[in-house]
Amino acid sequence: MKHRKRRQDLLRQKEAELHSLAAKIPGNIVRFDTAGRYLYINPAHERTIAQAFSEVIGTPVPDTRTEIKDAIARVCESGGLTTVRQNYVADDGRMKVHDFTLVPETDAHGKIVSVLGIGYDVTDIVRLQEALAEKEKQFRTLVENLPDNVARHDTACRLIYASPSLEQVLGPGSIARLLGKTPVEVDPEDIHLFARSQQAIEEVIATGEKREIEVSYTSFTNEPFHHLIRFVPEYDTGGVLRSVLAIGTDITRLKEAHLKIEHLARHDSLTGLPNRLTVAEQTDRAIAFAQRHGGKVALLFVDLDNFKAINDTLGHAIGDMLLIEVSQRLKSCVREIDVVGRQGGDEFVIALPEVDDADAVAAIVSRIFRQFDQPIIAEGHTLSVHMSIGIALYPDDGDSCVSLMKMADTAMYEAKRAGRNTSSFFSEQMNRATSEHLTMQSDLKRALAANELCLHYQPQVDAMTGAITGAEALLRWEHPGRGLIPPLQFIPLAESSGLIIPIGKWIIEQACRQAASWHARGMNLSVAVNISAVQFKRGDLVETVKQALDASDLQARFLELELTESLIMQDTDTTLDAVRELKDLGVKLSLDDFGTGYSSLAYLKRFAVDKLKIDRCFIRDITHDADDAAIVQAIIQMAKTLGIATVAEGVEDQKNLELLKRLGCDFIQGFLFSPALKATDFGEFHRQYSAGQPCRASSRADFPSTNPRPCAG
Ligand code: C2E
Ligand code: MG
Ligand code: MG
Repeated sequence: MKHRKRRQDLLRQKEAELHSLAAKIPGNIVRFDTAGRYLYINPAHERTIAQAFSEVIGTPVPDTRTEIKDAIARVCESGGLTTVRQNYVADDGRMKVHDFTLVPETDAHGKIVSVLGIGYDVTDIVRLQEALAEKEKQFRTLVENLPDNVARHDTACRLIYASPSLEQVLGPGSIARLLGKTPVEVDPEDIHLFARSQQAIEEVIATGEKREIEVSYTSFTNEPFHHLIRFVPEYDTGGVLRSVLAIGTDITRLKEAHLKIEHLARHDSLTGLPNRLTVAEQTDRAIAFAQRHGGKVALLFVDLDNFKAINDTLGHAIGDMLLIEVSQRLKSCVREIDVVGRQGGDEFVIALPEVDDADAVAAIVSRIFRQFDQPIIAEGHTLSVHMSIGIALYPDDGDSCVSLMKMADTAMYEAKRAGRNTSSFFSEQMNRATSEHLTMQSDLKRALAANELCLHYQPQVDAMTGAITGAEALLRWEHPGRGLIPPLQFIPLAESSGLIIPIGKWIIEQACRQAASWHARGMNLSVAVNISAVQFKRGDLVETVKQALDASDLQARFLELELTESLIMQDTDTTLDAVRELKDLGVKLSLDDFGTGYSSLAYLKRFAVDKLKIDRCFIRDITHDADDAAIVQAIIQMAKTLGIATVAEGVEDQKNLELLKRLGCDFIQGFLFSPALKATDFGEFHRQYSAGQPCRASSRADFPSTNPRPCAG
């Protein structure tokens, strides 16, 4: 008995201890009977369900707590334990989440008599998990919608994540194929993408530092792709490198823009041909190659002969079309390795690497000319394209693009001089001519100031009376080193450099002064001055003439301006206006070298020309050549009907003089009477001639026998 009581006391004590434990434990302890009714809940669970033990004892678990309810049934049925998550509305009205582990309790016979539930408040963990999931979702959305491709590799280089955008370049299904593999397992050969990626990842793993590579590859749709891939190490909180993130940015557009800019900088925008910079580089490369391996390099300088006229008359749009067509035709004439470039304007350059000899170049050049036999049709206009081509060769003429270009340019000008639509190989002689040309040009600059220029005067004689009626002023250059230089050698230079403007002004002034001085000495002579087209176009000719007449006090009718046919053919409004103003001043006009140009009657009338100077070419053989005689006769007759006087130039012998007199020519100029003379000699010549002592002036001061201007025909 005593023994039993002791045991009961012990049991009670144990139960009290258990109660106290269950009451104090922060966990929820619940006991259900097998029908799911509450047998016991500890204070913690009272707080969870916001009900007291006394209220719930013997009542079933409410239907709202489905998870627990079902779990109790499951435990009773299976006899095993189970864990469920149950939501509760706590007494403060907030939602609580509990994880419950339910275990069966059996009697001595192993029969399940109750179910014990032990629950923990996991609200905070669940909230954290939810927040994490939310964050993860946000990151995923970000990553998956980023224009960049994102991939993650583990420390063994295996791909463990790839954003779906990667499939857009590598093709559908590619991510599934790549996951779990290292780049080199995918393609060990591909040094543009996989092998280099592998290397970069390995370096990041080894060094813990970022890496950046630029890769170019072709997408599965065959499009070129350029990516900048940044490989970034990812550490865990313990500072251990866990993975490598690869972020690939599509730089295809950037790259294309870059290439475009580079292309623009190196090509001509109109024709798409390489520009001078590119041609120079490629030529120098070809020369370097030839230096190592032998062989020649040719440089062709191509200049269109008539482009300016086409551009000016038909407009720039047609000019552009023409240039594009020319560039295409030129390209069609050369080999793959040759370079056709546009130098600017209507100039093209062709570099021909690896040519055997000049003959090979000549063959290409003639192919080019043949290519332009057919005119170019542009917007209904049929345009014949003519070009001059200058050719220089490495190693013969130069050893760099710069020097070859210079020589080819010189040769091109030679081709132009030789009559256009032709080609010319560079020769040393040309080089000498060019450098002479250049020194002469600089010499000419100071010639005027240095008093090296002077005028000589060639008398003009009345054919009938034999009296001297005037003189043509002819320019001479007494060069300190080279002696007397004929005008045809330096006047074109003066014209092209613009020096003819100040020189021409000086000539007019000088000639007027000279004529005035003759008049003062009782010699009533006219003076004829040659005028260049440039003076008409660029100089203030009318003003110059006015001033010269004023300054010298010479009457305008004693000044005669010799114009050439080509000058009046320009027939611009300015030319015509200037001519009219000059005529209004009272100045006389004569047409020089008549017969060699266009010989247009209409112009003679329009410009109210006073005199025709029949070119020396017709006069020279007039007594032997019936054709020449017929031409001269026709010119004289025509002039007479128009009321224009005629002058025969270059009369050298008596027979010619006689014939010209018979044909009715008015004035004679030529060596028969005298070459051009220094002013002082001219005065003496005039005195003796007028005194009835026909004489030949000394030719010391002049070069009568070598008139350099070639006669046509
Ligand atoms: P041009 O105006 O036709 O001048 C006539 C040329 O024929 C002169 O040559 C003269 O010396 C030459 N001549 C005259 N009679 C005979 C002859 O009987 N036989 C031969 N064989 N030749 C004769 P020059 O002085 O050498 O002048 C050549 C050209 O240079 C001139 O041809 C003219 O176009 C130009 N020129 C000369 N002086 C000037 C100038 O002051 N200004 C301009 N713009 N041009 C000038
Ligand atoms: Mg003349
Ligand atoms: Mg003449």
